[in-house]
Amino acid sequence: MAVSTALKNIHKITIPTPFAVGPVNVYVLTGDKHILVDTGPATKEAEEVLRHGLQQLQLTPEDIHTVVTTHHHPDHVGLVHLFKDAEIIGHEKMQPWLVKDQAFFDQIYAFFRPFFAQNGVPEELVNQMVTTHQAYLTYTEKTSLTRTVREGDRIGDYTVLETPGHAQTHISLLSKDGTLIAGDHLIAHISSNAIIEAPYSSGENRAKTLLQYRDALLKIKDVSCVLPGHGEQIDDPTILIQERIKQQDEKAIMFLDKLGDSELSIFELTKLVYKRLVDKQPDLTFSETLGHVELLEEQGLVEFKKDNEGIIRYKKAKAQN
Ligand SMILES: [Zn+2]
Ligand SMILES: [Zn+2]
Repeated sequence: MAVSTALKNIHKITIPTPFAVGPVNVYVLTGDKHILVDTGPATKEAEEVLRHGLQQLQLTPEDIHTVVTTHHHPDHVGLVHLFKDAEIIGHEKMQPWLVKDQAFFDQIYAFFRPFFAQNGVPEELVNQMVTTHQAYLTYTEKTSLTRTVREGDRIGDYTVLETPGHAQTHISLLSKDGTLIAGDHLIAHISSNAIIEAPYSSGENRAKTLLQYRDALLKIKDVSCVLPGHGEQIDDPTILIQERIKQQDEKAIMFLDKLGDSELSIFELTKLVYKRLVDKQPDLTFSETLGHVELLEEQGLVEFKKDNEGIIRYKKAKAQN
């Protein structure tokens, strides 16, 4: 179970999840004060595997001094409530998710309904996404942070890096030897989705998550080894990061080609590219399309305007000479 990095005190426990992403890795950092990074989802099966994994290290949940949450997704934070006496650490944006702040959730749905409508998504599909999201949140038990951290803060021997993009709450932990415990920020076998989120407070703009994600990838390009939240350890992160950036650039050009000479809403373009997958994964396919269109926009290759019905439509930018 030990992870083969230069650091001998990092132990990986792989925990089953009911989600398409498959099992999740949590890491136990043993020392004077044992730290657990992420927990797995709130299912009976996950709890059994987590307890068993701790047992193999001669630990019980009571022995864990600190639980660090990389981001708010239920496959990572669903079992935080098992660690009743532990310090619970995360980015300040984690808190409304963990305490299940109903006003916060209402604000999210209040943001997304008009946002999706403007981008051409039919109302019934928006309703479906809301229902799916509510069901997803049941894989987390209500709990609370005891300490919030931001860029540069220390947790034991580790330094906190803010790595938003996949989630606005996302942090990673960097050790002195260059090992990064990275949650879902970089995964070897799949490209991490830069999922769109509502603003966290009024007056804040929605983050352009793919652009943000690319910046956060470049920020970690010199780490020596990545311990991800899913799949295998990454020993050559620099190469993988270059590959991911290149794939995004190529994918953006694919979207530009699909756009052709039409003027399309994000939803129309999503359907054109992803076809029937849109019905199965409306949120992910929409996020992917919007993210890459925002990348094209940043590069000056597309422009948009609102039509008479209030729908935002994108088209290729006129060549500027
Ligand atoms: Zn995630
Ligand atoms: Zn995950």
